[in-house]
Amino acid sequence: MKIIGSRALQERAERLFPGGVNSPVRAFRAVGGDPPFVERGDGAYLWDADGRRYIDYFGSWGPMILGHAFPAAVEAVQRAAARSASFGASTAAEGDLAELVVKAFPSIEKLRFVSSGTEATMSAVRVARAFTGRKYVIKFEGCYHGHSDGLLVKAGSGVATFGIPGSAGVPEEIAHLTLALPFNDVAAVEAAFATHKNEIACVIVEPVVGNAGCIAPAAGYLEALRAITAREEAVLIFDEVMTGFRLALGGAQELYGITPDMTTLGKIVGGGLPCAAFGGRAEIMNLLAPLGPAYQAGTLSGNPLAMAAGIATVGHLVKHRDTVYPLLENISAAVADGVAAEAAKAGVPMVTNRAGAMWTWFFTSTPVMDFATAATSDTASFARFHRSMLEQGVWLPPSQYEAVFLGTAHAMDDIHQTIAAAAVAFASHPSRPNVS
Ligand SMILES: *Cc1c(COP(=O)(O)O)cnc(C)c1O
Repeated sequence: MKIIGSRALQERAERLFPGGVNSPVRAFRAVGGDPPFVERGDGAYLWDADGRRYIDYFGSWGPMILGHAFPAAVEAVQRAAARSASFGASTAAEGDLAELVVKAFPSIEKLRFVSSGTEATMSAVRVARAFTGRKYVIKFEGCYHGHSDGLLVKAGSGVATFGIPGSAGVPEEIAHLTLALPFNDVAAVEAAFATHKNEIACVIVEPVVGNAGCIAPAAGYLEALRAITAREEAVLIFDEVMTGFRLALGGAQELYGITPDMTTLGKIVGGGLPCAAFGGRAEIMNLLAPLGPAYQAGTLSGNPLAMAAGIATVGHLVKHRDTVYPLLENISAAVADGVAAEAAKAGVPMVTNRAGAMWTWFFTSTPVMDFATAATSDTASFARFHRSMLEQGVWLPPSQYEAVFLGTAHAMDDIHQTIAAAAVAFASHPSRPNVS
């Protein structure tokens, strides 16, 4: 039987998948209503199973920076697929993509490709522990580094959306080795290193937080993390799964001029196919098997289709960096500021945090600089806003604690339509002062 329409598909999905989804953030529990089922995407648009069109502001949660079905990526994947989807042996494409990556990220001397950001961060932490011979890991509240046991502590994103403090199924003994500190608080980092002298293997951070909503580092914060980890001989890991190739070709480390010891990449690096990477200083990476004693592996790591999509996507970004990043900045500023201006006109309290082509409209009047301040947001107002925008054909990420993304395919017309839709959404907003 052919099942058609989002509602019918949703009923079937709820029978088959916990919560009807294969990743929790795809569910609409935090904003109400049911998620549309996607049939196809092209450029800035998605079409659902009922034939409705949406302007896409989540871009597969980051990868689709060149828009959906980017022609060069589609062709590259088709060509690669015709030569077989996987070999489990080395191919030239892995080196081709790796060369593009190390050119964009000079801090990466050697790297490994894996299939998801979760694998990249988990592996980076393992090799950091092997390098230092230490156990503890510092992460920051509201930062999400995938769902490996040790990193699922105060982890932002879906965990924050659904109000889960940690995760069931993570043994206390493992969670205990992860020190979760407030973001943008240098004193907290100093205190942790003082308490755990010579016991902290690494500090892992989203240099611009995306998974508690968008939060930029305070002036001097990343510099302080760099100085403290260097002094304490701990490994500084920049998790640039979201920010890499988005904030600048060379990610947040290029934008802020900081050289981490290790970097994790994902999302854009695979152009929408399952692909991620971790890398850094050669003396650390050389501890990996078969050279060293730290084990890490993957049947589909460096998969030919993922490499093809990655080369097409990253290759385009490298070639056109001088036009792509200024364009992304301009259209992102236009839509982020345009919607913020409509909120101000309607008297809706809103804090807009933006870093290049990622941002969050927080429904609060408190400046947002860490997870605690992000949590002052009125999530019920966000949910109403989200529903109204969706009804008007604008698909935002379905959580206050996520960043909004756009790509080079978003045209000025789309931006104007989005701002107009926001004006309609805010006009019916209950916190709008009565105009008499
Ligand atoms: C998305 C994300 C991850 C996890 O990547 P997956 O491919 O979903 O496992 C890790 N870190 C950051 C910063 C992310 O945004």
